[in-house]
Amino acid sequence: MNLLIIRLIIFAVLFFAGLKLYGMYRQWKLDQETLDHQPDRSDGGQMVRCKWCDVHVPEDEALRDQQHWFCSGAHRDRFLQEQRDLNTSTPPDDTSHDDKH
Ligand SMILES: [Zn+2]
Repeated sequence: MNLLIIRLIIFAVLFFAGLKLYGMYRQWKLDQETLDHQPDRSDGGQMVRCKWCDVHVPEDEALRDQQHWFCSGAHRDRFLQEQRDLNTSTPPDDTSHDDKH
């Protein structure tokens, strides 16, 4: 009678140990998969960042203007508008030739 109980206990322990190992293995595998799918991996070449709002978008959904990527035409237009404003709002520096030592 005692032997039977001991066998049951051993069986139960092995069973739960197996479950725990299986759970750990699954968790480890999930971690590996999430590591493999990092959007910031540079060699993937799939995700690009919008120059205006820093949102990551798939490359085939993004708009490209020269070397910049944008998530939408509106953001591209706003970025180009800002670039234009920066260029026009910087006055020619002829008058401010004071010495800045
Ligand atoms: Zn954007």
